Amino acid sequence: MLSDSDLVAELLAREVESGISLAKALGVVLERTEGAYSMVVLEAGEIHAVRDPYGFRPLCLGRFGDEANPEGWIVASESPALDVVGATFVREIAPGEMVTISNRELTSVQLLDPAPGKQKLCIFEFVYFARPDTYLMGHQVHTTRRRMGELLAAQSSVDADIVMGVPDSGVPAAEGFAKASGIPFGYGLVKNRYIGRTFISPDQSLRAATVRRKLNPLRENIEGQRLIVVDDSIVRGTTTREIVKMLRDAGAKEVHLRISSPPFMNPCYYGIDTPTRVDLLAANNSIPEMNEFIGSDSLEFISLENLRRAIQLDGECCDACLTGSYPAPTPVVLGTAGSRW
Ligand code: SF4
Repeated sequence: MLSDSDLVAELLAREVESGISLAKALGVVLERTEGAYSMVVLEAGEIHAVRDPYGFRPLCLGRFGDEANPEGWIVASESPALDVVGATFVREIAPGEMVTISNRELTSVQLLDPAPGKQKLCIFEFVYFARPDTYLMGHQVHTTRRRMGELLAAQSSVDADIVMGVPDSGVPAAEGFAKASGIPFGYGLVKNRYIGRTFISPDQSLRAATVRRKLNPLRENIEGQRLIVVDDSIVRGTTTREIVKMLRDAGAKEVHLRISSPPFMNPCYYGIDTPTRVDLLAANNSIPEMNEFIGSDSLEFISLENLRRAIQLDGECCDACLTGSYPAPTPVVLGTAGSRW
């Protein structure tokens, strides 16, 4: 099956064959390409890095050497990649901008007009995707996740013995929850670092098996305890149900789930492989029904207002999967349950 990157590469190749430069071909092809991308294209002696007009996905620029005398340039999705190789963060690449690195020279053009209104960085970069040490639009992801937990606690605390996070992205929010609620923070699940993310596993049986291989309960911390378990999101609900069962099997007395994003009601059409609406638990069930399906003692989600407050970016994030308000054209008629594009 052709992926969207293959398709763009094919379109670029056709334009280049007609005799124009790769940089010009990028302008021609991306002018008629809708959607989310942060693209890096290599040709002999040059690298072009371009971000879509909405800025859905992150892309940043780094420098080797001094500002006055740069020794080289680097582009990466997330800022920690720059730290790893000893580069200095310079800035984010702007929506619609193309940066070209040629030897030690750096040039920039506004290849595409930015989308009208504000930038639309994916809100789930803050909730789930990005590394905690990443900086996005001037905000460190770890700090925003802690704030999500603090606000979630103010909104929905419950009497319990420990607060624990589902590794990895639930842990900073659990720290924030513990701090704001005064309930001790503890570890209840250990993660196998060599297993990938479950919600992007290709099928359900593989996802369920992956949860067991990925997470192992710390029985001594869990047995007889009333747990508040903080996780970043519920998509199909099957992973969360496995986690709750695992904690109960390990002796948890109560499991209260707290989720640091609002209910995930709508598919993503901007590059994230989410299920269709028919498979999204929140799209088809009330919160009490979700609680029953998952088997938790209680279930609460952070409100959209509190999530936005935690991130502190005024209207500069896409939150279409939470609100149904899609900033860019979508490829299907919205509201059609089970549609695939
Ligand atoms: S729809 Fe959701 S997952 Fe997709 S880009 Fe928007 S916020 Fe991110």
